[in-house]
Order: sequence, then C-alpha cells, then structure tokens
Amino acid sequence: MTSRCVYVGRFQPPHCGHLHVIKWALQYCDELIIVVGSAQESYTLKNPFTAGERLEMLRLALADEGLDISRFWLIPLQDIAMNSVWVRYLEVNLPKFDKAVSRNPLVVKLFQDYGYEVLVPPAYKREVCSGTRIRQLMLSNDSRWEKLVTPSVAKYIKQIGGVERIILLAHGD
Ligand code: NAD
Repeated sequence: MTSRCVYVGRFQPPHCGHLHVIKWALQYCDELIIVVGSAQESYTLKNPFTAGERLEMLRLALADEGLDISRFWLIPLQDIAMNSVWVRYLEVNLPKFDKAVSRNPLVVKLFQDYGYEVLVPPAYKREVCSGTRIRQLMLSNDSRWEKLVTPSVAKYIKQIGGVERIILLAHGD
C-alpha cells in the first residue's frame, strides 16, 4: 500500500529549508502531501503571498530540484478556529496519510494527540533558510533573498512584484 506523509507549512515563500525537509521526508514515504496552510491569508507582512501563488512556487521549486511531481499532492487549506479538531479537519480534506512531518511544536503536538507518528526533520541553516529572514531581506530590498529560493521561484516572485508588494504593505498611508 502507498505510504503517505503530510507536511503542513505556510510557505511564505517556499525556501531552502522547506526543500531540505521535503527531500528528507521522501526517504520515509512513497508520497508527500504538502499542505499550503493558512490559505485564507495573503497581502500581509507575515503572509504576503496568496495560496495560489504559493502552490505555483512550490511546483516551480520541486521542478528546479528535479523531484518527481507524481510523488506529491499540493493542497491549500484554510485555518480553522479549533486547534483541538484540526487534525480531524485534515483527515477529511486530504488523501489518507500515515505520518506527519513537522518541526512546529504545536503541529507536532496536535498530530501526536491524534495518535500519529511525527517525523521531526533536522533543522537546516535555520538562521538563513527562514521565511521570516527572506521577507525581511525583501523588505530591505536586499537581493540576498534570491539565493534562499530556487531560481524559478526567484523569477516568479519578481514577475508578480512580490518584493514591491512587501515594501508597500510595510508602509502606511
Ligand atoms: P512554515 O512555512 O514557517 O514552516 C513549515 C515547516 O517547515 C515547519 O515545520 C518548520 O519548522 C519547517 N522549517 C522551516 N524552515 C526550516 C529549516 N530551515 N529547516 C528545517 N525545517 C524548517 O509554516 P508553519 O507556520 O510552521 O505552518 C504551520 C501551518 O499549520 C500554518 O498555516 C498554521 O496556520 C497551520 N495550523 C493551523 C491550525 C488550525 O487551523 N487550527 C492549527 C495548527 C497549525
């Protein structure tokens, strides 16, 4: 039977840390369900990109890394108010999964409380491979962010005016 892991993130934007986790997780399951969480969020400093944009970026990043797209499910999901039933909400909205992959303490706890095994990936260059760091660099118009995402993702962010969007969001009227 096909084994499936689920990996939930905001992917604001997908970066080198996420890709390291994705490649690491593929050792433990046949397929990986990547959930684009907080799908309702966009156009804020913490969540500048829409769910659709994040899905596009993930596909580009997986292709840049030469990964076999047939092993992935990419699914956007909005947050819900009740953490206590969030894993049940995932169960009814996703293909069946056996294990979860996460370093986020809340996410780890919620899956464990539902009886799931959680695979905790090693931290990878956490100070630089970080969405917060990338968004800060973008806000300072510092091009070093481009090296923390794959080339096609950097190109896509520039095409959609992602840096200008973040700078605009930081300024009041
Ligand atoms: P994120 O994109 O910041 O990170 C995703 C995962 O990648 C995390 O496990 C993180 O630890 C890991 N990661 C990131 N950089 C890494 C690196 N350099 N090395 C190794 N691992 C790295 O996303 P997040 O904020 O953790 O996403 C959790 C999502 O789950 C959010 O959308 C949140 O809203 C959702 N959630 C929702 C509910 C609810 O709706 N009630 C409850 C819990 C979680």
